[in-house]
Amino acid sequence: MNKYVAEPYKVKVVEPIAVTTWEQRKKAIEEAGYNTFLLRSKDVYIDLLTDSGTTAMSDDQWAGMNLGDEAYAGSENFYNLLKAVKEVYGYEYVIPTHQGRGAENLLSQLTIKPGDYIPGNMYFTTTRAHQELNGGTFRDVIIDEAHDSDSEYLFKGNICLDKLKSLIEEVGAEKIPYICMAVTVNLAGGQPVSMQNLKDVYALAGKHHIKVMFDATRCVENAYFIKKREAGYENKSIADILKEMMSYSDGCTMSGKKDCLVNIGGFLAVNDEELYTRATQMVVMYEGMPSYGGLAGRDMEAMARGIYEAIDYHYIHHRISQVQFLGDKLIEAGVPVVRPIGGHAVFLDARKFLPHLEQEKFPAQSLAAEIYLKSGVRTMERGIVSAGRDKEGNHHKPALELVRLTIPRRVYSYAHLEVVADAIIDLYQEREKIKGLEFVYESPVLRFFTARFKHVD
Ligand SMILES: *Cc1c(COP(=O)(O)O)cnc(C)c1O
Repeated sequence: MNKYVAEPYKVKVVEPIAVTTWEQRKKAIEEAGYNTFLLRSKDVYIDLLTDSGTTAMSDDQWAGMNLGDEAYAGSENFYNLLKAVKEVYGYEYVIPTHQGRGAENLLSQLTIKPGDYIPGNMYFTTTRAHQELNGGTFRDVIIDEAHDSDSEYLFKGNICLDKLKSLIEEVGAEKIPYICMAVTVNLAGGQPVSMQNLKDVYALAGKHHIKVMFDATRCVENAYFIKKREAGYENKSIADILKEMMSYSDGCTMSGKKDCLVNIGGFLAVNDEELYTRATQMVVMYEGMPSYGGLAGRDMEAMARGIYEAIDYHYIHHRISQVQFLGDKLIEAGVPVVRPIGGHAVFLDARKFLPHLEQEKFPAQSLAAEIYLKSGVRTMERGIVSAGRDKEGNHHKPALELVRLTIPRRVYSYAHLEVVADAIIDLYQEREKIKGLEFVYESPVLRFFTARFKHVD
């Protein structure tokens, strides 16, 4: 059997991509202020910026787009979405939102009071920003292994129960509106949470009457890792594992742009009727009616269909296999990456890649810009720039200083990923030439999206 499984689909439509020269790329990255977010997509050869909304939808999803029921209220597509979420994830109530952060906004506003604490398994950018905007303080309670790019622990997304217990003792359960549990953990390297840990956290939370809310963005990838790595799950279907996972939570925020296989969309799902009712009152302010929440009928239909497609074993097996392929190529060549390879991306360890650059010179930001310049491959910084500043204005300094090579779903071939690996391996040979950066422009929130930089000597 092949180590890396072949595509479980064939290609029906193609989109040509740009082949650029070094001179063109030099001009483009200078104009973008050395921020890959500010590049124009027409100047990018292989786009590994993100797996968010970059999925290739299936013919069945596109067919569904033609069945959009664009009634203002009570669209049939909403009911299809509701049915999919109930059947596949098991939640009772669903409010569609324009994307994941729309759901984060609702949940944070509805549940967080100033002075509250929200424990989580490592922060995520938009999630923490919404928690802080509502006066909450995020507390990282992920296990220590998650902050160590060399640890081969198989469930680096797990919450440390002792850290969680100490926080509950320190601030009191009434100051913790919910535990925010990401499955998988994006910024730890796409690392999964074990079923045992989900069970334990839910039990502990229940004892203290604290809700557990999942950031379910990559829950199918998490289910796949449980099947492959956790004893007792090897013969269970992805659908059964996923259903069990979600049963250890009270609801979730979802970015449909990832594991629901769509280009836009998300939702808030809960089991608590009272919370749902309050969410319906709030969603009309920010998104739209509770039965469309910022989405067209056709978008809800594509998401409903994507939810079912994602739990097909052949789909998820191939997806993770592609990510593993890229990771293995880099590991074989000695390039420092976060291990084990996660579910949606390969993460370069920029501290080890560029040991001559201290963190304040933004090594991961600089590396992402150099990768683009060398190869036309677009990646993303996930280090000190993404982490932002604390309330006192100091940089958050994450232990992990990473460049993320994110694989869009069903978009690129193994040959594309080989090109990416070769470019990075070449760059690794000339790494000491890479210089640090400093800010030219920095926005006060979520600065990584729009910041501009120049080289420092
Ligand atoms: C993408 C993402 C979000 C936010 O979702 P959007 O659809 O981009 O608003 C939240 N959490 C995680 C882990 C994500 O990857």
